[in-house]
Amino acid sequence: MSAVIIDGKAFAAQVRAKVAEHVALLKEENGITPGLAVVLVGEDPASEVYVRNKGKQTLEVGMNSFEHKLPADVPADELYALIDRLNADPAVHGILCQFPVPRHLSEAEIVARIDPAKDVDGLHIQNIGLLASGQNAMAPCTPLGCLMMLRDLHGSLSGMNAVVIGRSNLVGKPMAQLLLRDSCTVTIAHSRTKDIAEVVGRADIVVAAVGRPELVPGDWVKRGATVIDVGINRIPAPEKGEGKTRLVGDVQFDSVSRVAGAITPVPGGVGPMTIACLLANTLTACCRANDLAEPVGLTA
Ligand code: NAP
Repeated sequence: MSAVIIDGKAFAAQVRAKVAEHVALLKEENGITPGLAVVLVGEDPASEVYVRNKGKQTLEVGMNSFEHKLPADVPADELYALIDRLNADPAVHGILCQFPVPRHLSEAEIVARIDPAKDVDGLHIQNIGLLASGQNAMAPCTPLGCLMMLRDLHGSLSGMNAVVIGRSNLVGKPMAQLLLRDSCTVTIAHSRTKDIAEVVGRADIVVAAVGRPELVPGDWVKRGATVIDVGINRIPAPEKGEGKTRLVGDVQFDSVSRVAGAITPVPGGVGPMTIACLLANTLTACCRANDLAEPVGLTA
């Protein structure tokens, strides 16, 4: 058996196309253009690349992109004053602060300062509570992307056994909540889980969000299961030359793809879905802010 390889790049392109279509309608019928504000503190090169990509993709779907670059030593009060202005700006429907931030700033306080209705990262405590209580939350982008891919593959997820490996606030916990909302029977595994191979072996759906290169081998996985690999790990690749590296997931792709029914590759699986879902969330936030119908197929 050889698994279906889920093409996250192509799927993300479809999501962006749907967003762009809806944005065009909003402009034409309501004269509204969704806007995403991204705040970058400092000059971390990786963060600069992410922010550039986000800005580019935001413009490509027809939204407004507002970029705010602050120096690494910006006082917390100045950053909060900017967030307050963005909260009050009707042209801004989504606000994201690129993490990590310099050590003198608190990520928790930054997230708490953002208006929950504009929290397109889905990290505000209010959105976490709404998600956990099955209400209209803003779902975090990476788990939302995983959910969209699973729904596309299976249609209904109702009654499926799902195991999420990892319990972070960013991925594991919201992923488990989303699967529960879709009526899966959900188990969350973590570093203290006993006999994790047996736990994973019961799953129809495995979501690995661990940050440990190739932790999950093929012999943990039930035949025909769907495996979503969220992990992004850089490991040495001496075969490519001295000092070279390559990206791998949390799953051993070769052995798992021989038993799984479907699998996301790394790179090219979950990764591209994250920005696509950020755009989807910005569109959703804009529709909610204007009391308009939410886009079908782009929300949890
Ligand atoms: P995190 O905050 O470090 O959480 C990792 C989780 O994995 C923790 O709950 C930890 O358990 C668990 N864990 C660690 N070692 C384990 C083991 N040996 N067996 C079972 N569970 C174990 O990481 P994260 O932010 O969730 O990210 C996870 C991975 O996803 C990383 O590789 C990250 O780069 C990637 N990621 C990708 C995207 C994307 O766009 N594709 C987005 C976000 C994150 P404890 O709680 O017990 O310590």
